[in-house]
Amino acid sequence: MTNPAPVEPGIPATIEAVNDIGPDIRILRVRTNDAPPSWLAGQYMELTFAGMPPRSYSIASAPHSNVLEFHIRDSKTGGVSSHIVTTLKPGDALTLRGPFGYAAMIPGDTMPLLLVAGGMGLSQMKGIVEESLHSNHPGPIILCWGVKTDQDLYLKDHFDALEQQHAQFQFMPVVEAFLGQNAGQAIRANFADLSGMRIYVAGSPAMIAATLPHLQANGARADMIHGDDKALSPAIPPAPKGP
Ligand SMILES: Cc1cc2nc3c(=O)[nH]c(=O)nc-3n(C[C@H](O)[C@H](O)[C@H](O)COP(=O)(O)OP(=O)(O)OC[C@H]3O[C@@H](n4cnc5c(N)ncnc54)[C@H](O)[C@@H]3O)c2cc1C
Repeated sequence: MTNPAPVEPGIPATIEAVNDIGPDIRILRVRTNDAPPSWLAGQYMELTFAGMPPRSYSIASAPHSNVLEFHIRDSKTGGVSSHIVTTLKPGDALTLRGPFGYAAMIPGDTMPLLLVAGGMGLSQMKGIVEESLHSNHPGPIILCWGVKTDQDLYLKDHFDALEQQHAQFQFMPVVEAFLGQNAGQAIRANFADLSGMRIYVAGSPAMIAATLPHLQANGARADMIHGDDKALSPAIPPAPKGP
């Protein structure tokens, strides 16, 4: 009989700030009790609150900031995200595991970037945008954010400001209710040749399934489309398995 893989102990942490973004979304700033773990932009962590099962959340902050930020939307199922949005407050304790995920920004990469986010998939892309701009990525860096209504554009001002400040960054919000098209359709209509781009996709499995055919129709290479969904390739090689 083989021994089960050891579970890494969690990293004790505390909620430092909770920012209310409308009724459904919270931006959490988390402080680890010891030095924060190092991570790559685009990775995620597992958060565990007392009495709750663990849940995965993308790290929305860039590694150079040394701040751990998570964006959580209440899924209204009474699960962990509802607990976070309705009851969490500064000073509450949690445990972190990770970072995890291979759909991360490759340090030093200079390939043109297309970042496609559906809804809360934005949090993964925020870290990649901010780290790329900080490390003087030559661009283009295109962020396409698909949402249902304009009420969902909770960080529009932030990305509008980055677009003003950085010539190599283009922000493309796609509001389905206005445009009658989703992020994949908007990319297909606006970017005819995706063959030279590194592409990251984050969102629900349904959003990813709906987006991929549009990317492929305009020449995106399968090995250049990265995401945590199993249909997508890793950007950085998975860590080798232990003995
Ligand atoms: C890589 C990754 C990154 C994510 N990033 C974000 C983010 O940045 N912001 C955000 O709002 N959401 C994110 N999510 C979704 C998040 O993990 C939760 O699924 C979401 O908050 C709903 O959880 P809930 O407990 O409120 O809902 P529930 O309805 O209780 O759970 C949702 C469903 O997912 C299953 N599930 C979810 N996570 C786990 C887990 N860790 N272990 C076992 N089962 C699980 C549950 O069984 C259930 O079927 C991410 C998910 C993944 C996989």
